[in-house]
Amino acid sequence: MSRIAVREMDAAVDCPACGAPGVGGLDGCRAMLGRVGEREFSDPEYFRAHRLTVDAYSLQHPEQFMESSKSAAAHLAGMCWSMERGRSIHLPAPLKCWVDGPRKYACVTPPPPRARGTITVVDVVGAEDAAEHERRVEAWAQSAWAAWSDHWAQARAWVKEALEESRANT
Ligand SMILES: [Zn+2]
Repeated sequence: MSRIAVREMDAAVDCPACGAPGVGGLDGCRAMLGRVGEREFSDPEYFRAHRLTVDAYSLQHPEQFMESSKSAAAHLAGMCWSMERGRSIHLPAPLKCWVDGPRKYACVTPPPPRARGTITVVDVVGAEDAAEHERRVEAWAQSAWAAWSDHWAQARAWVKEALEESRANT
């Protein structure tokens, strides 16, 4: 088989983590994220969606981005905050303190869901403008968050803990 044929076969492979169709496996999927990230870093209007992008991608690729209980807690609690308390460009201060604080997470890394959401990074690439990009990332994040519904109670408990700690420290 020629090299080109092999490459074409690879390109048809779905991402084994998020299920993105025909992206060329995990590497191809990661390259898609790279394109999205480049766009977000090149334009402040696009950058507004960046934190949601990182959490959505992480929730759909927990084997790569949520391996430690700290990163699992950070992405789950971060997404929970975005979905239920409002969007922000940077991680809200109480959550940042909580994530960076000297703690041992009481909970081990939660077992990730098998279905990770029907909207993936391929649906986000190539938006016409920043507003459309934001809408696409929003839909993507909703999809990823919904897939983790078994873990919402844990995520909410972490957010609550962060808020309580923040209040206790002021
Ligand atoms: Zn993927």
